[in-house]
Amino acid sequence: MNKNPIRKNLVILGATGSIGTAALQVCLQLADRIRVTGLAAGNSWEKLAQQVKAYDCQSAATADPAAAEKMRRLLPTDCQVFSGEVGMTRMCTAPETDMVLCAISGTAGLKPVLAAIEEGKDIALASKEILVMAGNLVMSQARKRGVRILPVDSEHSAIFQCLQGNAAQPPRRLILTASGGPFRNYSLEQLRRVKPRDALAHPTWNMGEKITIDSATLMNKGLELIEACRLFKVKAEKIEVILHPQSIVHSMVEMIDGSILAQMGPPDMRLPIQYALTYPERLNGGFPSLDFSQLSCLEFSPPRDEAFPALRLARRALAAGGTMPAVYNAANEAAVEAFRCGRIGFPDIARLVEKCMSEHSVASDDNLENILQADKWARDFTSRLCKTHG
Ligand code: MG
Repeated sequence: MNKNPIRKNLVILGATGSIGTAALQVCLQLADRIRVTGLAAGNSWEKLAQQVKAYDCQSAATADPAAAEKMRRLLPTDCQVFSGEVGMTRMCTAPETDMVLCAISGTAGLKPVLAAIEEGKDIALASKEILVMAGNLVMSQARKRGVRILPVDSEHSAIFQCLQGNAAQPPRRLILTASGGPFRNYSLEQLRRVKPRDALAHPTWNMGEKITIDSATLMNKGLELIEACRLFKVKAEKIEVILHPQSIVHSMVEMIDGSILAQMGPPDMRLPIQYALTYPERLNGGFPSLDFSQLSCLEFSPPRDEAFPALRLARRALAAGGTMPAVYNAANEAAVEAFRCGRIGFPDIARLVEKCMSEHSVASDDNLENILQADKWARDFTSRLCKTHG
């Protein structure tokens, strides 16, 4: 093993969220390999300031300029404090930055990530929205600049890991696993009665609120399906989604000869985060081994389309192409927000996404301007639908 490994300078967007916090734990374990130079977060500026001090970062950014001002007073004077998209972009494109981990929820990371790719920085990607909205743009820019897009999401990391050493032949099939969320066996009637607090109790993963609700509707899996198509350049019909409530098999790849490779491990996000940060190396991050004697079984079953239309809608969005995946994502964000506030019911989330998609006139050229316009249109349209819903 290399005695003097090169230290990578890492910027984390979304440092205070569940992925960001887990990533900082990984970086602490790998302090001789990774130096955290910049941290950005939405508005949790107090927590962010603590992290910036603990990791002795050179720069920090919050979404809101007023929060940045408050944070500045808590930080050493030599720490640069930025705000907004422009601030995040400056951190991502700084000459000393080697890699950007984008774990910011929503679409706020899109422009900073594109700018980082332009500057040749490798990207560890946890924010689904980036590939769902602008997958073609991001992947083509990355190819042009020779930049690696390393998946952090457990499913995509699993597929990425299974594909290592198997690049010569395209796989026959990708099999995305889904926990199915807490309501996977609910009837339509039971789903109608689901309250936000029920949807926030995820059986196997501990995550942010938006993604936990997305797991319950299977919208999360729909977004991951779109993401997988972009990331691995495969057609949607070559990707199967299968429910696997134990979340031990993180996804699988069927090779051309029919052999199936699976990546397994305890449901702990630090593992795929570490692989993205240290790729192509594997390091001992001190994670516990999986204890097979504690596993009674591994179950697999197909998702139920009538109760969970999210996957069908994701396939429809991919088939329509252009700006439709961005609309699928944005309509869902607006509908989830309305559900969290108690304005709409659980099954309405997918119903309103479908309605929004039906009303959208697709722009086939998915350039950044068209994508952002479609994103805004879908948010406004769905929010209006949620208000008049009754
Ligand atoms: Mg996932």
